[in-house]
Amino acid sequence: MSDAPRVSRIMSQSRKARKARVRGVGAKCKDCGTDDPLVLLKTRPILCEACKRRRDEKSARDGHHPSAKANSTFTIPVPVNSHRRLTDAQNNWDPETWRNPTGCPLRAAAGCIQGFIDTCKEMMDAMLAWIVEMLEALSDLLREQLGERWWVGTPLEQWARPPE
Ligand SMILES: [Zn+2]
Repeated sequence: MSDAPRVSRIMSQSRKARKARVRGVGAKCKDCGTDDPLVLLKTRPILCEACKRRRDEKSARDGHHPSAKANSTFTIPVPVNSHRRLTDAQNNWDPETWRNPTGCPLRAAAGCIQGFIDTCKEMMDAMLAWIVEMLEALSDLLREQLGERWWVGTPLEQWARPPE
């Protein structure tokens, strides 16, 4: 089995760490507070791409080629910060797949699959990750206010897990 995903993750983390060093440890966007080095600009004050565009009254969306231009003309509108992360993800692809200079149908198919995977991951991070934190915070709050097994006798009891 290929260790390509692991190598890609390491390369992405390396690029992210390099950008974090350039922006400064603990750097955050002055307007929204994001600390993702992939979206922070070298502006003073430090801003993310989305907040810079907002300040400049420019579109905060870009057209993204999820499969890379060489593999498909299909584009999707994405928030600019997502576009930066998705482009960084494409930098982890096999360059032959991203460029596909001969128009190889298998490379095109690989680009479509990888682009779909990258886009789903970005959507999961953007649309779902915050819900995990919110559910955990709500769980802590309900336990604190109503007791250890606050769900007993409520409609939520049907989803309770048996204690180990
Ligand atoms: Zn921002």
